[in-house]
Amino acid sequence: MVKRHLLTGGTIYRHAWDEHPAEAMLIADGRVAWLGAVQDAPSSDRVVDIEGGTVLPGLTDAHVHLLAVGQARKQISAAGPDSQSLGAYLQRLQEVHESLPTDEWLFGGDVNEQLWPEKQMPDRAAIDAVVPDRPVLLRRFCGHVAMMNSHALEALGLCPETADPSGGQFDRRDGALTGIARERAAELVFRAAPRPADGEIAKSTRQVMDDLSRAGVTAAVDAAVGFTFGFEPEWAIWKLLRQQGDLPLRLGFMAQIDPGTAEVLSLEPGRDPWWQWRTLKIFVDGIIGARTAALHGRYHDVVGSGHLMHDLADIQDFVHEAHRRGWQVAAHAIGDRAIDVIIGAIASAQAACQREETRHRVEHFGFPDPSAFQRAAELGIIIVTQPSFIPRMADAWPIALGDQHHRCFPARSLIDAGLCVAGSSDSPTGALSPWEGIQAFVTRRTASGKQMAAQETLSVRQSVDAYTNGGAVAMQHNGWRGTLITGMAADFAVLDKNPFSCSSEDLGRITSRLTVVGGQTAHDPEGIW
Ligand SMILES: [Zn+2]
Repeated sequence: MVKRHLLTGGTIYRHAWDEHPAEAMLIADGRVAWLGAVQDAPSSDRVVDIEGGTVLPGLTDAHVHLLAVGQARKQISAAGPDSQSLGAYLQRLQEVHESLPTDEWLFGGDVNEQLWPEKQMPDRAAIDAVVPDRPVLLRRFCGHVAMMNSHALEALGLCPETADPSGGQFDRRDGALTGIARERAAELVFRAAPRPADGEIAKSTRQVMDDLSRAGVTAAVDAAVGFTFGFEPEWAIWKLLRQQGDLPLRLGFMAQIDPGTAEVLSLEPGRDPWWQWRTLKIFVDGIIGARTAALHGRYHDVVGSGHLMHDLADIQDFVHEAHRRGWQVAAHAIGDRAIDVIIGAIASAQAACQREETRHRVEHFGFPDPSAFQRAAELGIIIVTQPSFIPRMADAWPIALGDQHHRCFPARSLIDAGLCVAGSSDSPTGALSPWEGIQAFVTRRTASGKQMAAQETLSVRQSVDAYTNGGAVAMQHNGWRGTLITGMAADFAVLDKNPFSCSSEDLGRITSRLTVVGGQTAHDPEGIW
């Protein structure tokens, strides 16, 4: 067995800021053993010529819904070229309906009404008109809204008398359900609908991991175990994947349960370089698209300010307990009010209990008040942001937020405030490839080609740093992963283009020719290793 691989023939960046990349890198025992000029290279068992490739530390997707991406791929997509309007998508549903056996559910996904001329989600009446006699369940691309026809409402036992769950809502018109469910209500719907066998879900989840590996990703965090089917069913699927072994990524998990439930399930925060459970997820508010993100002010186009997903006291309890028991908190917070609430909760938890590792995470940090940056930085909060939301959503932000929309999804001002920033996809809500995220960090171009808040663009180096070092910090892997200096884990990708010199168009299309995790190949279609 080859013990010592010497990589040569390319440009090897130790980290995003490396101004003098190495010509050669020795890998031994799963670690970087040496870097430097070819003529100084120590002896090796095998020389690997990467033929002009660019080497970067392996990327981290710090927030992705691996299981949900796999499921979304099986649904009738509303984002395809044949679904450029609500009318066209409904027609597509009708065609699929006519080709399916009777009684089977029809599932659709990727609905983003903001990209359609009608600017409307399909409701029960619209779906009934094309599919009257089988259950249809559609998922908005954000995962926070469900749309159903009458048959699905009936199959799930939902009727006008059904009460709204706390933190969620079944939309109603003249007392009747419209078929649209939001937040907690949508969650209940997705969990109650029939689902494929565990083995099938595991297989499609594994394919998503392989796709990340093809993009040069070596670690990822599943951002809410429990979001799609509930915690215990998803936990079982992850255990199955672990048994199957040979995974191409180092994985971290956010368990979408409270600290008390974690204790009941005997789940404890731990450190494991391959399989890390040390993070609990809480949704503090909703999203801008559904007008459920909690704002201090009002939305521009509708009456309302969004809402918190839990009582304030419950949010504070969650954070205090999680912190006290050694968990990392990952809090979904988008509206400025939600962001202030979570920062306050983290500040008081840290003041009440001194702990060694206290870096909690705020996911999205979508519409912060400018005063939040400094407070978050002082508390060591890690911001996990999603640049590819800009091409997918930003054209709709002025509708929701009026002249305040430029405050959405900042990037440069976070770094300027001294915050640690990690990039992520939040796929299926954002684009899966980290390179589309890096491209969006750099260009901040919306789907219509506008530039959203030019002062918030990042350099390519800052962007790559957010996906390498930033991602490692978010997973609390810093110190042993995220750069390629001597002694660090041999997690790296050989890219087909140099991100620091290619055009911004090419940036979004970069792929990996060879991805190595811990000195083992995860993706090697050319047989380089
Ligand atoms: Zn997410």
